[in-house]
Amino acid sequence: MLCPKCRSPKGQVMDSRVAKKGFAVRRRRVCRKCGYRFTTHEEICAENFTVLKRDGRREPFARAKLEQGIRRACAKRPVTEERIALMAEALAAEIEALRLAEIPSRVIGEKALARLRVEDQVAAVRYASVFRRFMQPEDFDAETASLRAG
Ligand SMILES: [Zn+2]
Repeated sequence: MLCPKCRSPKGQVMDSRVAKKGFAVRRRRVCRKCGYRFTTHEEICAENFTVLKRDGRREPFARAKLEQGIRRACAKRPVTEERIALMAEALAAEIEALRLAEIPSRVIGEKALARLRVEDQVAAVRYASVFRRFMQPEDFDAETASLRAG
């Protein structure tokens, strides 16, 4: 774990404490380079949830699939492979934080779109065109209109 202050990997755990009735661990860490103290939180990964698709089918959530969709939208755009991985990582964390056993694919799509809008407008429009394929055509018009306005 990198130090949030100086990014040194030389951290040391000073104290570990069980939290959430044994389902989580909090650790106090100190950076051996700059002396900065910070806390990390470890929890059981809730990644094992189900995606409820538009057609009513269910499938297990796959981070790789989400990342692939983002990568496809970013093709030939100035978005690095590292940024794409970070976006997928952040999205998975965001989805996990919802703590839902079942999550509609529409919700995942909207969240991915929100991140892409910040990252690259063209990639966002591409993603929207795939993601909203079965939705109202005016949604797509609104997306391109907001791109022209921006
Ligand atoms: Zn440090």
